[in-house]
This record gives sequence, C-alpha cells and structure tokens, in this order.
Amino acid sequence: MSASPCIFCRIAAGELGTRFVYEDAEVVAFEDLHPQAPTHVLVIPRRHIVALASSTPGDDAVLGRLLAAVRQVAADRGVAETGYRTVINTGSDGGQSVLHLHAHLLAGRPLGWPPG
Ligand code: 5GP
Ligand code: ZN
Repeated sequence: MSASPCIFCRIAAGELGTRFVYEDAEVVAFEDLHPQAPTHVLVIPRRHIVALASSTPGDDAVLGRLLAAVRQVAADRGVAETGYRTVINTGSDGGQSVLHLHAHLLAGRPLGWPPG
C-alpha cells in the first residue's frame, strides 16, 4: 500500500514477503540478497533514516536498538563466541549503495582487514 520507492522501507513494511530473522518495534533484520559470508544479515530501522551521517540525536535510541539487534542475531546464530563484524557503510566513500541506514552482520569465516 505504501508507495515508498525505498527498497528497505518496503522490506520493513513486509511488502516483499521478506523473512525476518529478528524484529521488534524499531528494527527488523533479514538475510542479505548477496551474502559475503556464511552469515550475512542486514539490520535496519523500520523508520526511514538515510544514513548514519544524516541521523540526528533524536535517532540515538534507534541506533542503540540497531546494535542490540545485531548482538541478538549474532547470539541466535551462535557466532558470538567465534566473532563477527558489524559494518555500517556511509556515503559514497563508505560504499553505501542503499540509502536507508543498515548494519551488516558478517560472520562464519575469518574476515580480512583492512577492508578494500
Ligand atoms: P551497502 O552497500 O549499502 O552497505 O549494502 C547494501 C546491501 O543490501 C548489499 O549487501 C546488498 O546485497 C543488499 N541488498 C540490496 N538490495 C537488497 C534487497 O532487495 N534485499 C536484500 N535482502 N538485500 C539487498
Ligand atoms: Zn527507507
């Protein structure tokens, strides 16, 4: 019913039938379409926030929820002990391709550093 052109807003609204691996009142999490590791989950706020850079102090509670959801999904996946990487790409130099704030949870293999 929403006419939002934002793909992640549509996912959060359930318009695309995406299976959520975690959800609460503020955030949802789902599998990345092109996984870069055995676990690759995206955690997004339900509300449209373009990027970390344009978020405001009024968004700080939801930013906290975003990280708490990463922690929960990592625990559910059993990767909290082996470790994982949480990535928030921001803007063009940061490699952000979807303009709706999202945290990547990557796990299940050793991850190289520094990133490309
Ligand atoms: P970014 O490059 O913006 O940090 O990450 C965007 C991520 O969203 C990419 O890893 C990409 O694979 C994922 N992605 C883009 N479109 C979709 C989609 O429609 N569904 C899902 N599940 N993931 C998507
Ligand atoms: Zn959006």
